[in-house]
Amino acid sequence: MHPFIQEIDAEQFPSTVLAAPMAVVDFYSDECPPCEALAPKYEALATLYGKDIVFTKIFRQKNRALAESYGVKGSPSVLFFRRGAQEGPTLSGGIKRSALQAELDRLVGPDRAREIRSQEIPTESHFDVLVVGAGPAGMTAAMYAAQAKRSVVVVDSLLAGGAMGATHQIANYPGFPKPVPGWQLAENFREQASLAGVQWRLASEITRLDLSERIAVVDRLETIHAKEIILAMGTTPRPLGVPGEHELLGKGLSTCATCDAKYMVDKDVVVIGGGDSALEESQLIAQFARSVTIVHRRDEFRAKPQHVEAAKANPRITFLLETRPTAFRKAGGDIEVDLESVRTGESTRRTVGGVFLFVGMLPNLDLTKDILELEEDGSVKVDEWRRTNLPHVYAVGDLVRKPVKQVTMAVADGTVAGIHAARSAGG
Ligand code: NAP
Repeated sequence: MHPFIQEIDAEQFPSTVLAAPMAVVDFYSDECPPCEALAPKYEALATLYGKDIVFTKIFRQKNRALAESYGVKGSPSVLFFRRGAQEGPTLSGGIKRSALQAELDRLVGPDRAREIRSQEIPTESHFDVLVVGAGPAGMTAAMYAAQAKRSVVVVDSLLAGGAMGATHQIANYPGFPKPVPGWQLAENFREQASLAGVQWRLASEITRLDLSERIAVVDRLETIHAKEIILAMGTTPRPLGVPGEHELLGKGLSTCATCDAKYMVDKDVVVIGGGDSALEESQLIAQFARSVTIVHRRDEFRAKPQHVEAAKANPRITFLLETRPTAFRKAGGDIEVDLESVRTGESTRRTVGGVFLFVGMLPNLDLTKDILELEEDGSVKVDEWRRTNLPHVYAVGDLVRKPVKQVTMAVADGTVAGIHAARSAGG
């Protein structure tokens, strides 16, 4: 055990935590990937703040009553105490070093925080392959490179899984005859990569990425030097930029039919967009909803003709063309959508049970955009080995243009780039 971290139980809690001027508690569990991701950060911060703050860990499953008395229902959950009283937020899930450190700073006060931070020692590490992004493409690339005996590290600002990890059920990944939860498949990927020797920096932020020098700074302090870099940061849904969108996302507005269509039973639904996602996902939503209205800003579709024809043939799906949304509002359990005719400017309003936005995806390239060569649609330009225009830098998964965005496609990208990077790092 770390010299500044005490493993305690409910009986020791009053004398260790409540009696201390300042204390922090990590309720953890075993077989808990976010707990594993937190452990090295907790230890590093205990080394820094351990003279001022009592650092403890409590095994949650064996101290359930104590955990629940503080509203703790999941692991890890990190709580902060001053002179016996809980203070500040409870941190849970994929806890970032920066979030944890901000609370420790608050406990010790700004002057002492400055003093402690001045003692932080930056570290340097060297790997054959750095993978940025722990979705299926990144984890596959990492596994292949590690199995080829290369040293590999994977960094992700969240936990392992990417979009796959957030998918409710995956029914079309070969080798799994029954649908498998996305988080379970993600854990299997992670375990296989770990067995091959991959190292992880999860719930960790890349604060600087230099693709020319092949350097990444993680959580401000660790500088990783890599011979090869594989970019696998995936995409995020493109925002519409319409009032109410941000506030209602996850509260009646959705970008994921697989996640939310099942809540639309017997409801009227609006779908925004005219691409393959809008047209194809409308079919799924129509299996649950009473009606689906596809609202599209043009009178022609970007989607493939077969998707348009299938939607037109579905009696529950209708179209409102040359129309765009201008505002979303909560109306009891429903959503009010303000619409405007692109041609006449005339405004109308609809009250519906849910709204789905499928207006495209944006590659997560904030760290890299300026020097990578991109395709017209904003995806990264790559060759058959998934090499970018920059030497020893690859891009895989949803960063790269593909006809269908599927886990199998991501895995294929990761395979190609992982094998090439392993060869290149050895040569
Ligand atoms: P997409 O092809 O980029 O389509 C986005 C749609 O949203 C377009 O119709 C666009 O209108 C509309 N849009 C964009 N910004 C808007 C705004 N501000 N206001 C109103 N409408 C807006 O995105 P996607 O449908 O997600 O598809 C992404 C990629 O995945 C494509 O390559 C697609 O072929 C592929 N995909 C394939 C399948 C399949 O084959 N099974 C399924 C899903 C996705 P405009 O048309 O007027 O620009």
